[in-house]
Amino acid sequence: MNVADSQRVSSALEQLGYDSVRTPEDADVIVLNTCVVRQSAENKAYGRLTSIRPLKSSNPNLVINLMGCLVGVKNNPVLQKKFPYVDVFSPPSDPGPLIEYLLQKNHQNTIDQETSDRFAIMDGEHPLPGYDHSDQVTAFLPVVLGCSHACTYCVIPYRRGVEESRPFDQVLNEAKNLVAKGVKEITLLGQIVDRYGKDLQPGQDLPALLRKMHEIEGLDRIRFLTSHPNWMKDELLDTVASLPKVCPHIEVPVQSGDDDVLHNMHRGYTSEDYRQLIRRIREKIPGVSIATDIIVGFPGETEKQFQNTFDLLEELRLDVAHLARYSPRPNTVATRQMRDDVPEIEKMRRFRLLEGQQERIVTEIHTAYLNRKVPILFEDKVKNRWRGRTETNKLVFVDTGSELRGKLLPVNITRTGPWSMLGQLDD
Ligand code: SAM
Repeated sequence: MNVADSQRVSSALEQLGYDSVRTPEDADVIVLNTCVVRQSAENKAYGRLTSIRPLKSSNPNLVINLMGCLVGVKNNPVLQKKFPYVDVFSPPSDPGPLIEYLLQKNHQNTIDQETSDRFAIMDGEHPLPGYDHSDQVTAFLPVVLGCSHACTYCVIPYRRGVEESRPFDQVLNEAKNLVAKGVKEITLLGQIVDRYGKDLQPGQDLPALLRKMHEIEGLDRIRFLTSHPNWMKDELLDTVASLPKVCPHIEVPVQSGDDDVLHNMHRGYTSEDYRQLIRRIREKIPGVSIATDIIVGFPGETEKQFQNTFDLLEELRLDVAHLARYSPRPNTVATRQMRDDVPEIEKMRRFRLLEGQQERIVTEIHTAYLNRKVPILFEDKVKNRWRGRTETNKLVFVDTGSELRGKLLPVNITRTGPWSMLGQLDD
């Protein structure tokens, strides 16, 4: 979602006549996009904020925009006081306050075309500052903003506001514009993306959106994330199975394999419900890859409860498990009502156990790809190798001198590992 927000602000600035640069030192406008889903992400955001302060001292004309979940949807006077060198504070997904500020600053409705002002977008997570979305092959497109589910550990509803679907036609038009710019793959985003359209007219839901997107000429692949187990209805699964451009790739977090922990997390399902869902997904979408999210060390999680998560992952053999150690977040029910009683060292031990388990499972899953020919959509070049992904979202590298950006080609898989594969093009 943050990458999508960065793309959004980047497009808005380009429309105003600004050019993107990768180095904040060369920029006239710096946008720092922030995530606070865990304390570690929040710390990184503060670190970045501190590191750009000297740039403002040496260039008082520099405009600094702090954006995203650190700011939240409400005015935040504490933050404004703490970081007086920040010129503009913007909520997640909203380039509006920055654009207004720049238009006012320039005392005109468009930037003077003679000036070549430059902007850099940084986020708290990635080590390399700078953001470049020219020649983009894949793009994220938010369709559900905010979230109203209120899992007890999660800060997102407090920072991104209540759930709101973006209008059906607006999403479709944005998708068409992206494709016109050369984008080949679009991932629809929402905290519970399957709830898309609950607040729109009847018939405007995720299956309908997928069917309409499927008609866009020039678009090769469609994905969506993140799903919630309670909202993955059969109609959605059948739609995925029936539309060739919609990838057999589902991201549906379980968070824990223990029913009491799931209850305390306020997730609204049991481990058995999840098991049955995975069975249903696999029946309906052959060859599907499934990703999950897990939080270890949730308040009160015992060794036995952790073992239930371990056992569930062992049984289900999912393609990806995004692992996180529980991090108390301000205002959440878990922070207000439960004690963060699993020691850090124990959280880390549980994390490492799942990490090792998943590495083993995925290594085994990936060997099934060996010597198979699979379609790869190529995205970019990394250290002389072209990087692309399978429909199932597996990373594949190909060593070739040819220009492959944006091409969808069959590749023979010659080597597999837990995190990526190597392949060769046909001669
Ligand atoms: N909305 C999705 C869901 O939970 O169904 C995912 C959104 S969240 C940005 C991504 C992941 O961050 C969550 O699935 C969860 O595993 C993790 N996460 C959220 N809050 C957390 C917390 N307080 N501590 C650790 N991990 C957390």
